[in-house]
Amino acid sequence: MVQKIGAELAVAWTDGAESFFPLEFLRRQCPCAACGGEPDVMGNVARPKNEYSARSFDLAGWQTVGGYAIQPKWGDGHSTGIYSYAYLRRLAEALREGAA
Ligand SMILES: [Zn+2]
Repeated sequence: MVQKIGAELAVAWTDGAESFFPLEFLRRQCPCAACGGEPDVMGNVARPKNEYSARSFDLAGWQTVGGYAIQPKWGDGHSTGIYSYAYLRRLAEALREGAA
């Protein structure tokens, strides 16, 4: 289950765990081709310089995609990023380790 709570997106996993993603963090990790960039051999992604505004970090809504992902619609109209639950779990781990 996915819920917007204040400036965070809360995801309740099927195993009972919960993750909270700050919206700005989530937008900056947008996996779409325009925001993303290609991973290098080490798996690091060199991100292009993206232009953001305050509205970029406002979540206007989202759709679930085929039961495996969510597709957020941001306040600035950007909505091409598809965040699979596997990707969100990796982001949650990165947050927990303070690497993000
Ligand atoms: Zn994007």
